[in-house]
Amino acid sequence: MAQVQVGLQQYTVNNIFCVARNYVAHAKEMGSVITEDPMFFIKPNSAVLQSGEAIVLPSWSNNVHHELELVALIGKGGKNIAEADALGHVVGYTLGLDLTARDVQAEAKKAGNPWTLAKGFDGAAVLGRFIAADGIDPTTQNFTLKINGQLRQAADTRDMAFPVAKLIAYLSSRFTLQAGDLIYTGTPEGVGQIVAGDELLLEWPNRVVEQFIVRAE
Ligand code: MG
Repeated sequence: MAQVQVGLQQYTVNNIFCVARNYVAHAKEMGSVITEDPMFFIKPNSAVLQSGEAIVLPSWSNNVHHELELVALIGKGGKNIAEADALGHVVGYTLGLDLTARDVQAEAKKAGNPWTLAKGFDGAAVLGRFIAADGIDPTTQNFTLKINGQLRQAADTRDMAFPVAKLIAYLSSRFTLQAGDLIYTGTPEGVGQIVAGDELLLEWPNRVVEQFIVRAE
């Protein structure tokens, strides 16, 4: 199982929680709205793809999309965590991509089926290297995704409908959070297709810079 590292500490990746809609402009581009409570789905931990690995597009989709997201790593688990205590449960942050087979997701949506196949394939949970959470205020961060040198997504976490602390409080009211859980916190607008040969650059100034190349299966 995938191991991630924060400083000298290693964590085995456990559950991977993802928020479906957390930035108003992205909800709009997907033709949906942000609901009163956050909406989550789960990726299997076999989906993890880490720094240094190539993104391999699955042969059964013709439209894999990038979704640039801030990812929180839970270091200390808990149930019914208060919002005021929530950030103390995060041990690290990085940038990630919630890769999505958009064509398969569209079919699932139409049929009222779960999104698992569209969101959970091998390599669909892309992760940069983690940095320690100490001193990072997740409500005031900016980061970007460039593809082949062109700016494609720019996130300002001030635009999140549900800040990280709120996500943790809500999640822990429904699930027992455990060390090694990851939370993908939602994508801003600008999602789009990636194709073989693309070079993706994820940049969180002074914190995380990661490059991933895309290959066909
Ligand atoms: Mg997403």
